[in-house]
Amino acid sequence: MTVSLPIVSHPEAAAAFTGNSERAHWHDQALWFVRVKRDRMARSLPEWEELRTKAAAIKAHTISRLADYLEQFEREATRRGATVHWAANAAEHNQIVLSILQKHSAAKVAKSKSMLTEECHLNPFLERHGIEVTDTDLGEWIVQLRGESPSHIVLPAIHIKKEEVGELFHRKLGTDAGASDPKYLTEAARQRLRQAFLAADVGITGVNFAIAETGGIVVCTNEGNADLGVSLPKVHIACLGIEKLIPRAQDLGVFTRLLARSATGQPITTYTSHFHGPASGGELHIVLVDNGRSEVLGSDDYRRSLHCIRCGACMNTCPVYRRSGGHSYGATVPGPIGSILNPAQDLKKYATLPYACSLCASCTDVCPVKINLHEQLLTWRRDIASAGALGLGKRLAMKATAFVFRRPWLYAAAGGIGRFALRHLPRWLVYSKLNPWGLQRELPPVPPRSFRAEMKRRQRGPR
Ligand code: SF4
Repeated sequence: MTVSLPIVSHPEAAAAFTGNSERAHWHDQALWFVRVKRDRMARSLPEWEELRTKAAAIKAHTISRLADYLEQFEREATRRGATVHWAANAAEHNQIVLSILQKHSAAKVAKSKSMLTEECHLNPFLERHGIEVTDTDLGEWIVQLRGESPSHIVLPAIHIKKEEVGELFHRKLGTDAGASDPKYLTEAARQRLRQAFLAADVGITGVNFAIAETGGIVVCTNEGNADLGVSLPKVHIACLGIEKLIPRAQDLGVFTRLLARSATGQPITTYTSHFHGPASGGELHIVLVDNGRSEVLGSDDYRRSLHCIRCGACMNTCPVYRRSGGHSYGATVPGPIGSILNPAQDLKKYATLPYACSLCASCTDVCPVKINLHEQLLTWRRDIASAGALGLGKRLAMKATAFVFRRPWLYAAAGGIGRFALRHLPRWLVYSKLNPWGLQRELPPVPPRSFRAEMKRRQRGPR
């Protein structure tokens, strides 16, 4: 576990996002809409819970024998003509990709969505070496044009309004000023991206699932951009986190049924593409990346986070993520799962993330592979406190809370004072800018006196 200077303060970044309350509200609603779609889809399958249990069991089994399955995958993939590379960390991953590109004198790359390449910061690395990378997923391309990182692992541009996309395309692509019709903008993007597909020397994709038994890889997209990106160039580089392994081809159906329903509330992704070896006359390079995963594998507390299939459902349901936006996490993977994975990479840098959580456990409830997210977040708080990585303000607040919690009479008195203040303070003060807590809430109206008298009478109980 590396320790570096703290540079991510979730509360500060979140305050910047919630400062624009209209955007924060709209972001919250947009993600809640996806969550509701997911619920509808989950309810439409009577075997939903059975699928989740099966998926969790398959993942637990795979992770417990990961080394064996990785070797089996390498053997089978090699037998089918792929070249398998092993990268211990992000730097090695980037170097391997670069050397393949240089070997083929590649100057242009079409890349489909891959959170692993975001995690390894591949784009800036390749650009520093004179290689032009085009992110061909529409949302990813929008954030790339804005010089930003994705704010969500499935919906990378969910924080951007269509009017802002219209303005961006007007500046970068010359579309009509003020145009924000999604159909028009998508068509403009399609025309421009088509040129990138045609010009690409190499196609890079992520991988959703890698099957040890067959040596095949599976890539799920809704836009077909991964297929287009690797169909024209002769060389396909697939970047794969080692936790993406599943043992057998017959296990795949469990995950594809869960993935799209959990991610966007669709029955299946529009394209589920299988690659078994290179295309005829071409090359398939598979880069297996560790980058801290082995360390997580060795931890009893956090091992289950490696089950993640990156569906994003925990983000869509998280009340903190929905209101604070993905960029407030300052990391490639935000939200509940990001708040577990990132401190494992750099405890001090990401020490505030496990506190970006209300411990409501909604993330655990929706996770298709049954990761105990809220429990792991709580465990991180313990580990961060014992590593001395808590900020002074948080330490003092925790000490004060512990002091109050140990004295029930004080807790009850504090509650009484809070209730009194809520009832008697003028509303303008409760909703004042000086009170960010109140500003974010619809507080219940003060009950009428007769109602309060009735409640008091009930609390006193029967005479
Ligand atoms: S932790 Fe679970 S819900 Fe969150 S992205 Fe991963 S699989 Fe999806």
